[in-house]
Amino acid sequence: MDLMGSPFLLAHGMGRPVEDATTHVQFDEPGVYRLWVRTRDWVAPWNAPGAPGRFQLLLNGQAVETTFGTEGNAWHWQDGGEVRVGSQMDLALHDLTGFEGRCDAVMFSKDLAYQPPHDGSMLASLRLQLLGLPAEPTVSPVYDLVVVGGGVAGTSAAVTAARLGLTVALIQDRPVLGGNASSEVRVWPEGHVNQKPFPRVGDVVMELIPDKKGDSANAQGAHVFNDQRKFDVVGAEPNITLFLEQRVNRAYASEWNIEAVLSQHTRTAERNLIRGRWFLDSTGDGAVGFLAGADFDQTDTGHMGASNLWNIQCLCEDEDPLSSELAAAVEEATFPRCAWAVDLAAKPFPGRTKGSTEPQTKNPNKPISLGNWFWENGFDRDPIHDMERIRDQNFRAMYGAWDTIKNVEKRYPAHQLNWVAYIAGKRESRRLLGDVILTAEDLRDNVQFEDGSFPCTWGIDTHFPAAAYKEGHEGDEFIADYTHGEGYTYQGPYWVPYRCLYSRNIDNLFMAGRDISVTHEALGAVRVMKTTGAMGEIVGMAASLCKRFDCTPRQVYSEHLSELKALMEVGAGAAAGR
Ligand SMILES: Cc1cc2nc3c(=O)[nH]c(=O)nc-3n(C[C@H](O)[C@H](O)[C@H](O)COP(=O)(O)OP(=O)(O)OC[C@H]3O[C@@H](n4cnc5c(N)ncnc54)[C@H](O)[C@@H]3O)c2cc1C
Repeated sequence: MDLMGSPFLLAHGMGRPVEDATTHVQFDEPGVYRLWVRTRDWVAPWNAPGAPGRFQLLLNGQAVETTFGTEGNAWHWQDGGEVRVGSQMDLALHDLTGFEGRCDAVMFSKDLAYQPPHDGSMLASLRLQLLGLPAEPTVSPVYDLVVVGGGVAGTSAAVTAARLGLTVALIQDRPVLGGNASSEVRVWPEGHVNQKPFPRVGDVVMELIPDKKGDSANAQGAHVFNDQRKFDVVGAEPNITLFLEQRVNRAYASEWNIEAVLSQHTRTAERNLIRGRWFLDSTGDGAVGFLAGADFDQTDTGHMGASNLWNIQCLCEDEDPLSSELAAAVEEATFPRCAWAVDLAAKPFPGRTKGSTEPQTKNPNKPISLGNWFWENGFDRDPIHDMERIRDQNFRAMYGAWDTIKNVEKRYPAHQLNWVAYIAGKRESRRLLGDVILTAEDLRDNVQFEDGSFPCTWGIDTHFPAAAYKEGHEGDEFIADYTHGEGYTYQGPYWVPYRCLYSRNIDNLFMAGRDISVTHEALGAVRVMKTTGAMGEIVGMAASLCKRFDCTPRQVYSEHLSELKALMEVGAGAAAGR
């Protein structure tokens, strides 16, 4: 939405055309109109052939002459020519490939010479006008704490603050909570909480995260990530108002104090002005801090990338090679060649054949492990502004690998792609700066801070392109390796200072999650999600002290650290009996 101005439809069929997207349109004046469709050829950035995102537009069941999604590197209005419409028309987007076609909007213009604006504020105001949305957003009451980003960090903060008596707005741009730990991204939360000397820090996190079982791992079935469990915990808190499918894209700040954020619904485009006394940026990207002018750091090249996890399934329950069920499944499980994908026919990649160098995974040759964490790209690209391209390169790599496995190696004949994340899981982007910027040296040297507030236990695990797989893909590497072993360990649990959890220049802004005040290297350790959830708990506790003492997050450190520690002793778990 931030990059091209809107949510858009994605024909994510994993190689099988998706069902038509349909609507019904009334025209006051039947006649001849010029048709415009906002779309793009998503493989154009690589000059790749074949326009895999092709689709048609059907008017009362009849395809118009132009095929869409076939041209243009950037989002633009593709000219659909002149069409004749009646007063009532059924409209359908008809996917031709199942390979990630995309459409933002369809426009009919009575003025045949009219050309719609391409981007920026003119396009935004045209959208509001044509959708019939009010010029002004709906204004909310003033919440004690406004939490932006409903990953494990933000959700833990919202629950903690609500249990400590604050009114909380929890704003999440997806239809589910959990962020990378949701069924949309499917990363299993790691790190250890409930550690001495504050064993109750982590109680809320453990309410949110499903119990660990045999299949508790990345890229498993949706049930493993149990989205409902997070809704149940949040839903039990009357102090929380949940704004789902709302993306924050503006902040209103004066005198280094945020007063409100503006959110936009990802499907209806309706807008809310959500006001608060204290704000938490748990967006991962430091989005609120950035919009409000908070100091931040970002590693431009050589940072961690983003992944779109994936898995496959066998269409045949019975894998006996002689069974007729298998033969039928083989027939059904064909997969088209993908000339536009990364060409891996003659290249190594994880899971390809025995003998290739495998990144670390317990069961590299199990089908379910094919699409694990190491399918990662974007190391040298802007993790905010290049994100559509980074996600798309993950698609191109995954489709190239599956094409090779199916059509070149002819392995997994009865299998098909079962699930591919269309939301990229991110690891690193902006880090908002606080009064302390934690470094990897602090971890290695076991530097103790009086305000140590949440336990960090994961290794100093940063990622870089894997040497075994990068040849021929320079600049677009898509398989990662990670730092580990000597030089990347420390004595844990390491208690990270509270001063990493609030902005040094925006007076009422907290951070929790991967956008806290750490260096690129230290991020490698703090970014795992039980740890980010524990950060959220500490922010919830600190926010309650801000309210009790009418003070800033910084003053919680300078004047109320003993009260914060008292809250950390008790925790905010359901069992604490509030
Ligand atoms: C493939 C992969 C493997 C990983 N492996 C592990 C692992 O094994 N274990 C582990 O614990 N961690 C792992 N990590 C790291 C971990 O998932 C991230 O560090 C995680 O993002 C941290 O949680 P968070 O709550 O800060 O962010 P997120 O989980 O990203 O949550 C932030 C939420 O905020 C929402 N949001 C963003 N911007 C806005 C906005 N403007 N308005 C409203 N909502 C917004 C997002 O949609 C998202 O749901 C991995 C990461 C990846 C990508």
